[in-house]
Amino acid sequence: MEAKRFTIHTPREDFINITRSVQETITQSGAKSGIAIVWCSHTTAGITVNENADPDVVTDMLHGLDLAYPDRPEFRHMEGNSAAHLKSSAMGVSKTIPFENGKMLLGIWQGIYFCEFDGPRTRHYYVKVIEG
Ligand code: ZN
Repeated sequence: MEAKRFTIHTPREDFINITRSVQETITQSGAKSGIAIVWCSHTTAGITVNENADPDVVTDMLHGLDLAYPDRPEFRHMEGNSAAHLKSSAMGVSKTIPFENGKMLLGIWQGIYFCEFDGPRTRHYYVKVIEG
């Protein structure tokens, strides 16, 4: 099955919950067992899995990433967004989620997030469902 492409419009920095779109793609595929690969085709954004209950977790993660990867005057990249590139590589640009009986094997507190580190932009992510 062809990968499904999604388009989102992002703020400057945020974690956007995309769990529902991934589950809907799996459901539409008709596959009962397999893996879904969630892929982000950008170098200053990412994909992660984290808590979906308390929105303060996202706020704290963004703050923690700022502390871990601050903008530095010695960075050489002309575009001036090296901190966003570092955060993208730290989160990674894809996640693989197994599913059984048509449902992702996510824990009750787990959600899938598109991570924006250098918005606002129009962004894309892909969901590839592989049955097996
Ligand atoms: Zn750049």
